[in-house]
Amino acid sequence: MAGSTPSGSTPPGAVPLRRRILIVEDEADIAASLKYSLEKEAGCAVTVASTGESGLSSFRQKPPDLIILDVMLPGMDGLEFCRIVRAVPEGARVPILMLTARVDETDKLLGLGMGADDYMTKPFSMKEIIARVKAHLRRAEAGDGPASRAWRGADLEIDFEGHVVLAGGREVTLTRMEFSLLAALVRQRGRVLTRDQLLEKVWGYEDYAGSRTVDVHVRRLRQKLGPPGRHIQTVFGVGYRFREGGASDEDE
Ligand code: CA
Repeated sequence: MAGSTPSGSTPPGAVPLRRRILIVEDEADIAASLKYSLEKEAGCAVTVASTGESGLSSFRQKPPDLIILDVMLPGMDGLEFCRIVRAVPEGARVPILMLTARVDETDKLLGLGMGADDYMTKPFSMKEIIARVKAHLRRAEAGDGPASRAWRGADLEIDFEGHVVLAGGREVTLTRMEFSLLAALVRQRGRVLTRDQLLEKVWGYEDYAGSRTVDVHVRRLRQKLGPPGRHIQTVFGVGYRFREGGASDEDE
């Protein structure tokens, strides 16, 4: 969906149309202030569910454009909610931003590959979460932006439009963020991208303190790709670079 504005010229803060957001959060104060801010600052229509079960029935009635999901919920928890939503076609591509209670929980969640697109640790800044929600909504609307349709290397093939990745001839299932990360690196292959650049390109925000998000996603992406994962090279102290073939192996 190109819309009327060329990519990159969307005014900061503008989210086209009235986007629907589902918040699944049992802490009423947090849910209420999120709802208030998202409606006021981002012009979104917000539905709040205080349990995973009620969140699911809201999702089934009308899939939202984005979900903010607390991990710790009474009854069905956020992980199970995420699994169920991701398993149905309407839920496969909805951006999911998870709220976690602790920083170290984030690594664990990423490691579990739950398919959430982003994570925020409580307590979070309202400004930050609004910025991320807007970024995810823009990204979801723009797809992956203007670019070539496909790229093919010796043992890796990427269909940017179809979101298909073949590693050594085998189709690899990637989350949306893993795919975007790979796409960003491959499109600028040979160039080193810093963690900040990757955060901005892939997650759509700058000024984010934690670069571990990038590291954890890279690690997971390499694992999923198998041998072709070695093309994603760690450039010590700088960031990452996609380069085919046998450069020195700085990877873990
Ligand atoms: Ca909770």
